[in-house]
Amino acid sequence: MTDCLFCKIVSGDVPAKVVRESARTVAFRDINPQAPTHVLVIPRDHHPSVADLAAADAGLLAEVLSEAHQVAVDEGVAETGYRVVFNTGPQAGQTVFHVHAHVLGGRGLNWPPG
Ligand code: IMP
Repeated sequence: MTDCLFCKIVSGDVPAKVVRESARTVAFRDINPQAPTHVLVIPRDHHPSVADLAAADAGLLAEVLSEAHQVAVDEGVAETGYRVVFNTGPQAGQTVFHVHAHVLGGRGLNWPPG
């Protein structure tokens, strides 16, 4: 999609601090980190939300989750604990409508989230 920010990160038209890549996914640092580790994992293909991705390509969703875990390993937070979040829809705080898994770690994380 031409007007999608994260599609532009995939294409390289918008710069990002990429930490991992696979044939079908990209992981990059969040521009406004909420924890010492805050990385976004996205599919290269455009799907607006995790619900859309689950319906269209469950295998790709599984790959996004696998990459999220590998990010946690690479960042050194897999042992202490980390959180994977898909904000889905405006009331949940989704602001970018290209599905992305937030990988958060490196500090204590409260529950329930705000
Ligand atoms: P959402 O609110 O769950 O949709 O998450 C969108 C995330 O994208 C937020 O945490 C933003 O800080 C992050 N973000 C927005 N623009 C950029 C960017 O250009 N690079 C990296 N992260 C971004």
